[in-house]
Amino acid sequence: MNYSVLVPLPLEPLTYSFDSDEPLPKGSFVLVPVRNKKIWGIVLKAEAQEAPPKYAIKKILELLSIPPLDSSILELILWSANYYHYSAGEILRSFFPEKIDADFKKTIKISEHGKISFFQKKIKRKKINSFLEKLIEEQSISSKGIPKKFLSELLEQNLISVNMTRTFAEEKTIAYSFKNKTLNEDQNRVFLSCESILQKEKFTPILLEGITGSGKTEIYIELANKVLEKNKSVLILVPEISLTPQLLRRFSTALNKKIGVIHSGLTPKDKFNYWSQMLHGEISVCLGARSAIFTPMQNIGLIIVDEEHDSAYKQEDHFRYQARDLSIVRAKLSNCAVILGSATPSLESYHNVKLKKYEHYQILKRHGNATLPIVKIIKPPKLVDENLISPLLEKALTETLNKKKQALLLLNRKGYASFLTCKSCGHVPKCTRCSVSLTYYKNSDELKCSYCGLRSKKMTECEVCEFPDLSYGTPGTESLEIEIKEKFPSNNIDRIDSDTTKKSGSLEKALERLSNKNTDIAIGTQMISKGHDFPDVQLVGVVNADSSLNFPDFRSSERTFQLLTQMAGRAGRLDGNGIVYIQSNQEENPSIKYSAKHDYKSFAEQELLVRKEFSYPPFSKLARLLITAKNDNQAKNISDRIYQLLSKSLKDDLEILGPSPAILSKIKNHYRWQILLKAKDFKYIRQAMFILKHKDFFKKK
Ligand code: ADP
Ligand code: ZN
Repeated sequence: MNYSVLVPLPLEPLTYSFDSDEPLPKGSFVLVPVRNKKIWGIVLKAEAQEAPPKYAIKKILELLSIPPLDSSILELILWSANYYHYSAGEILRSFFPEKIDADFKKTIKISEHGKISFFQKKIKRKKINSFLEKLIEEQSISSKGIPKKFLSELLEQNLISVNMTRTFAEEKTIAYSFKNKTLNEDQNRVFLSCESILQKEKFTPILLEGITGSGKTEIYIELANKVLEKNKSVLILVPEISLTPQLLRRFSTALNKKIGVIHSGLTPKDKFNYWSQMLHGEISVCLGARSAIFTPMQNIGLIIVDEEHDSAYKQEDHFRYQARDLSIVRAKLSNCAVILGSATPSLESYHNVKLKKYEHYQILKRHGNATLPIVKIIKPPKLVDENLISPLLEKALTETLNKKKQALLLLNRKGYASFLTCKSCGHVPKCTRCSVSLTYYKNSDELKCSYCGLRSKKMTECEVCEFPDLSYGTPGTESLEIEIKEKFPSNNIDRIDSDTTKKSGSLEKALERLSNKNTDIAIGTQMISKGHDFPDVQLVGVVNADSSLNFPDFRSSERTFQLLTQMAGRAGRLDGNGIVYIQSNQEENPSIKYSAKHDYKSFAEQELLVRKEFSYPPFSKLARLLITAKNDNQAKNISDRIYQLLSKSLKDDLEILGPSPAILSKIKNHYRWQILLKAKDFKYIRQAMFILKHKDFFKKK
């Protein structure tokens, strides 16, 4: 019979033949020849054989002895390939290991015929005799180091049998103390509703809107336990697992199960071990970052997407996908419930609740006696003061430290200053490869590009006019750290940003210091806003709340609201005496005003009005075409051609914005142009994609 087989290469499925009594099930792993190489592939389906094929069909070399892939993951890959216009084979290559059966070992046993021959002394060759004797003693041995020719000779004479046996990786066991929690009334109400949905074992998306500190994690845990009781598995996605080692601890203690962890920071070996145990159905809980949506978990009974609003769910290079959206697709394919949890749901999810596509549960109270913090909007210090924090915030810091409590300060910008500028001619040193100014780092006294990593020594005079005095542009976390250390010399100050946490394990250490109260004030970028649960953090200060507001993206208001609300949510989680200072010049801006009032609903309603007026998502479908080339003119010309082509064929159904240079018009010596496609219905965007694909505009690999 002929089968179409998907291989982890940028190729369409290939046809191979295989003779067997029973047809090969869909999802079977096989070994096939591709261009003189043997590689693994997955059986998609048996092909109907109407006419004899025009070309010789190669044979499947081997049916691998690993379980077939769960259909939900196979279908998800095919769905994604179609939706995101990417090759299914390449998706396979990105998410599946190169050697699919690396944990299998070839072992050799003596056959019945072998035993008889040996004991009846029928074998003449000494070498074979002593080998069989060894097999009788040891029962089974590894094939490693035994010459292939010798083995095939024995096989031919039917003296031995060769088997594949799985070897198990040593488990790292981590022991945590187990403390059972009982759900409070609000949590229990939501739990019971969700549980009754789970019992139906039907596809149901649920938005769980629970304010920061309301105990969403406790609900996830109880629901996961229910699903595990039924011998089904649970897939839990978190935005950035490296930022939340705490969460792994909470889940592993409460579920008392081996948890498969998937994220990009794992060694290939660890990743493979988890991956393989999921495929074999030995791991029933997976906790991972966005890529975990493509793990081969079997028999999924529940998918949880924690902090579903987080933009980290979107992968923005190579294979671009949105894991939150894919969680809905995978839940549908698995016929199970999917819970999207957040204190600040994405407007897409909120809109889906309004359209009655999603169930909606809310918890608007924090657990126990904790209340939400009081949020005050204050003016940032004037530029001439050369301070980053205002006297009010400084006073609040002093009071917090006097009470032996902790504080977090958010400044979402790295380095000492985001640029340098000549005091005479105003020149700003730029990256030679990217269209951005270079960030100044004081610790290492150098300039660095945030996009390509280009580094250079800080110049002592202007490159253009040779004036010997340069001033510092917008300050970042390094600068704030210096100021705070000066103001609080006897306290422990820690800076947490991507520069201080490069070394593996350093972030965990920093979070541990916070958790053990060794850090009094932590200064950081948005890294410190994410889901952390530090009970003794009482004060949160946002140094520059306005910085992300003016970013030219239709989601910038939403992002700012989310960041501020999440950041505020770190304060007063234990006893509710939290206080938050937001330094802003735009206190009437909805993102700032409503986050200060913890008023998600008003923000969402108002922002939806804006989206509707300009017909942005969720009221339309939007696609961005990014055109890159080594030469600016070339990028522009291609963009123009695309514009012409699409405006001719789809002018009534598609709004085409651009072409225009992208916000970052050059990165790593590649010029970037963009075109936005907006349509009421996704089908028009699809049509546009097909036109471009047909005309060969897609990136060549
Ligand atoms: P969220 O994820 O909604 O922000 P968490 O799940 O982190 O909230 O809960 C906030 C804090 O309250 C955590 O320290 C958690 O252990 C505690 N907590 C929540 N619910 C309970 C409960 N029912 N019993 C005891 N502690 C709880
Ligand atoms: Zn650069």
